[in-house]
Amino acid sequence: MPLNNFITDLAIKLGATRSAIVKASDISFSASFRDLCEMNTCGKFNTNWMCPPAVGPFEDLKNQVLAFDSGLVIQSVYFLEDSFDYEGMMNAMAIHEKTFRLILDHIKTEHLLNPILALNAGSCQYCENCTFPGKDCPYPDHALASVESYGIDVTALVTACGIPYNNGPASVSNVGMIMFNSEI
Ligand code: SF4
Repeated sequence: MPLNNFITDLAIKLGATRSAIVKASDISFSASFRDLCEMNTCGKFNTNWMCPPAVGPFEDLKNQVLAFDSGLVIQSVYFLEDSFDYEGMMNAMAIHEKTFRLILDHIKTEHLLNPILALNAGSCQYCENCTFPGKDCPYPDHALASVESYGIDVTALVTACGIPYNNGPASVSNVGMIMFNSEI
């Protein structure tokens, strides 16, 4: 089975709602997504090693992504009771985090893709409390930045690989991506 089919099937078997391959050349970047981080709409700006500003300058992060030729896009869709279902929103993120890390661990353990760059949704949640800014990150191999913090347009990303961004009323869709080289 071709590698791309194998890893998209694997992501679904391990719990993703949808998965697809995007070409790096089809990924849209904009510094404006970093501006949204700086407006602190999520409340995580300057609180986590993997969020801006600590994660690094936009151009450097963009170049990190473009050092690879392909990305495995992983989407988790969760349906809320209604648009005020805060507990459901938290569950949606927890389920996505667990699924994304399961897929990532499997890819690493089985040496399916190497090297890789993994980007998740939201701030790094590996520790209950991030050590930022007092102590260095003690788990750099497990720390995950977000697709958004790298200045990637998530709507354009999923559209580029045929995945719907909006999955209906009262749904929450979280997206992560694992960059890799299809030809070594
Ligand atoms: S692994 Fe822990 S200390 Fe490191 S960025 Fe993530 S939450 Fe912060």
